Amino acid sequence: PDRRALVSVQGLVVRYGPITALRGVDLEIGAGECVAIIGPNGAGKTSLVSAIAGLVRPAAGKVVLDGLDVARIGLADVVRSGVALVPEGRNIFGSLTVAENLRLGATPRKDDRIAPDIDEIFQRFPILGQRRSQHAGQLSGGEQQMLAIARAMLSRPRLLMLDEPSLGLAPMVVDGVYELLADIKQQGVALLVVEQNATRAFGLADRVSIFGHGAIQLSGAPDAIAADTNFDAAYFGAA
Ligand code: ATP
Repeated sequence: PDRRALVSVQGLVVRYGPITALRGVDLEIGAGECVAIIGPNGAGKTSLVSAIAGLVRPAAGKVVLDGLDVARIGLADVVRSGVALVPEGRNIFGSLTVAENLRLGATPRKDDRIAPDIDEIFQRFPILGQRRSQHAGQLSGGEQQMLAIARAMLSRPRLLMLDEPSLGLAPMVVDGVYELLADIKQQGVALLVVEQNATRAFGLADRVSIFGHGAIQLSGAPDAIAADTNFDAAYFGAA
């Protein structure tokens, strides 16, 4: 394995009772690298990000973060080590205000730059600033996705993982989300983006893995994968 890898997934097996969601996945993400995981419903994508975040315990194999086995360190330590997850469905707290949601993202931090960082978010996303005291549940889906990403960034992650960030959003809104992700990548933050729809993620990613049946079916540079005649078979055969 690459010693410079930020995260190294090694022979990862995840089971839920009789169901095997991941059957031996190997994946490395280097510092500042953007990896896209593309695959149909049920392929095991959510299980992968959950295991990397320490939310799901592997049946076999491991996730190594900074040389440490994620299953052996606490959840708080995973966050402190710089892993942030924007889960499917975003996990916005609808009855908390926009500002309260943002402050939650900074929970692991001990520095005094949190308020200025939140102000910066309000400048960049005026709609969040205007609605800082309103319930987050009143935001549109796209605004909630921006809020979820901004909240995750407040933990100052080295790896930001997003589970289907474009799900349920209109194409123009998805453009905005991907512009934001390109910005975050530019800042040197590593990204793991899970999507069912390949197009947007291909434009952002340095490396793409096609997932199916709990395993990586095909992996490589986006151009090479898009041109690969096995792509359709790997993707649709996996469904
Ligand atoms: P989706 O896009 O639908 O979320 P996915 O690629 O993210 O799909 P997973 O959610 O990881 O896939 O699910 C992989 C398999 O594990 C599926 O067969 C799913 O039904 C099963 N599974 C996921 N979570 C659980 C759970 N908590 N209990 C039992 N089975 C589960």
